[in-house]
Amino acid sequence: MQGIVGACKVALTQAKACSIQTGFLMRIGVDLGGTKIEGILLNDDGSIAEKIRIDTPTQKYQATLDSVCTVVQRLQSQASPRLTVGIGTPGALALPCELMKNCNSICLNGQALKKDLESALGYTIRMENDANCFALSEAHYGAGADAHVVFGVILGTGTGGGIVVNKQLLKGPNSITGEWGHNAIPVSVRSLIAEDRLCYCGRSNCIETVLSGRGLKQTYFEKTGEQLEATGIAELAASGNPHAQDCLQLYYQLLARCLATVINLLDPDIIVLGGGLSNIRDLYSAVPKYLPEFVFTDVIRTKIVPPSFGDASGARGAACLWPSM
Ligand SMILES: [Zn+2]
Repeated sequence: MQGIVGACKVALTQAKACSIQTGFLMRIGVDLGGTKIEGILLNDDGSIAEKIRIDTPTQKYQATLDSVCTVVQRLQSQASPRLTVGIGTPGALALPCELMKNCNSICLNGQALKKDLESALGYTIRMENDANCFALSEAHYGAGADAHVVFGVILGTGTGGGIVVNKQLLKGPNSITGEWGHNAIPVSVRSLIAEDRLCYCGRSNCIETVLSGRGLKQTYFEKTGEQLEATGIAELAASGNPHAQDCLQLYYQLLARCLATVINLLDPDIIVLGGGLSNIRDLYSAVPKYLPEFVFTDVIRTKIVPPSFGDASGARGAACLWPSM
């Protein structure tokens, strides 16, 4: 009898191991970034079984396409049957033709990236922009795992956002849900910057022009006449430099004012900040102090928190574009 029980246990263990190896509990996620392409095999519990990272070809569409296919095929080769594939990209798919738009990696704009990848791979994939993938990742496995409504924000090379409600990505007819970075900054804070800032999208004073890394760099230049990258400004402020500290205080004020518009509209349970500037630790204590002036409530319960996964969120969120099986 013990032998039978033991044999069953072994069989169950083998079946479980087999189901992982054969892919029923894994999904592929790929983050197509401006400098790196990262692909992962994501286990159902949120752990990563395998990771591949390669350089993104510089501004060459066909080479970029080939590189993404290579990453997917290398990951697929480690599992059978075929796994679901989600891709995170800059920009968005413009309906109805699903051509890429709004990408800061401009070689992708106007290209049928999703269809071209599906033709090359021979099966259907899912694709969303990187901010949406970040929000999904944090809502499923990260800082927003217990939240009903999650607003995920990227503060990096660009400024984007994604909204997840009950673990589902909120999507609309224009494929621009959460594209908060291209709203204009509120008029009340226009006087905090020296001059109008032209955005790559063609408009002036988009939120991205003040809250991206480049935006912070421009603010520092306006105040000091010196060119310094965002990380350098943060380091200088941490070492006690008053000009850098003033510059960051202004950044916190602008961020609070711009997030207040989101809170008044969406009232998310949690706002998860990602991208390089989310590493500035003082953000999480300073920004909430500025919020009450702008948010239409007496007590603000919205949490503003750092990400659980940082740069690793893109590929993880892309995998979450498909349900786990
Ligand atoms: Zn813009």
